[in-house]
Amino acid sequence: MTELDAWQREFRNYSVRKILEPLMREEDILWGHYTHDAEAVMQELQSNGRIIRPEPDDRAVVDAIRGIENGQALVIPESYPIIPDGYSALKFIKRGREAVIARPESRIGAMRWNVNLEDDMNGALDNIDLDEACSGYSIAGIRKGSRTKKIRLEHCYRGAKLFAESAKHGRPIQVRRYHGDLEFGGKYAVRVPSMSSDKVYEFTIENVPIALKRKSKMGKNERQHLANVYDLMTRHDCPAQHWNGLHYRRPAGEDASCPHIIAGYLAIMQDLENDDSPYYVALSPYVIPSDLMHSYAENLRTKTLREVEGKRRGLNSVMGEIMHGKALANYGMFRCYRKHRTWM
Ligand SMILES: [Zn+2]
Repeated sequence: MTELDAWQREFRNYSVRKILEPLMREEDILWGHYTHDAEAVMQELQSNGRIIRPEPDDRAVVDAIRGIENGQALVIPESYPIIPDGYSALKFIKRGREAVIARPESRIGAMRWNVNLEDDMNGALDNIDLDEACSGYSIAGIRKGSRTKKIRLEHCYRGAKLFAESAKHGRPIQVRRYHGDLEFGGKYAVRVPSMSSDKVYEFTIENVPIALKRKSKMGKNERQHLANVYDLMTRHDCPAQHWNGLHYRRPAGEDASCPHIIAGYLAIMQDLENDDSPYYVALSPYVIPSDLMHSYAENLRTKTLREVEGKRRGLNSVMGEIMHGKALANYGMFRCYRKHRTWM
């Protein structure tokens, strides 16, 4: 196995075979038996405690995913359709319900009233309804021409992981500082490795909400970051933003998140923490998973299947997004995501 293979394995959703075969091996069942009589094999695995089939209920499914142990897999029953009635996966990720984060009406307002994006995110994301599926959250811009950012929870998870794994696998994200400006935010160029090839994405992130580490009195200039974070902007384009790179066109005026942007943002935060920069990144529009959310997301990726017309299938990324939102609704913001600047 090459280094690139090892790296990519950390990001791929497991196939049905990759999930089931190790459990079958524990029970001395050959893979050929599954292809011959899947039902009998599933029955046997279930009666031996290898397969969990939760009740078709939001809380039961979320708790069961969180509780999957090694040597087990979970099958979401067909009677629990992850994507709401009347939607295709594509239509849901584009038009499905989202959490809308409140936005100040103007830059002046944001600064005058000390509007803190993270407080508003905490409030909105801590109050998501468990019985309604969610396609992510959105933050509108303030400046003229500034686009709405649509942020997916699954991207936040993958972005944080990309940031951590890239360093671990000797492919750390590189940050180049152009210039910092309290009024218009910082501008940085980042180089972020792809999760599926040896490609490296290079792009800039602008309007980064920077503040001075050594605080003088909180004058107008020291509060610019409160407004700048709403106009965070990046010149980056990749297939993850288009969901499958083919059919999904983004709604007009909206920028979709992707793991590369989020990983790049985290790298900028860490880079500026270094002693030689007078600035730090004061706010983040992205949420950082807690240990609970991390292990839940890994269970989704490596141990969870769903039933379709009596057969097992993996979850697609839209279903993954919905199930991240269900965990957030079930456990709450403060158990699922970290407090800002506590992860570094
Ligand atoms: Zn990307």
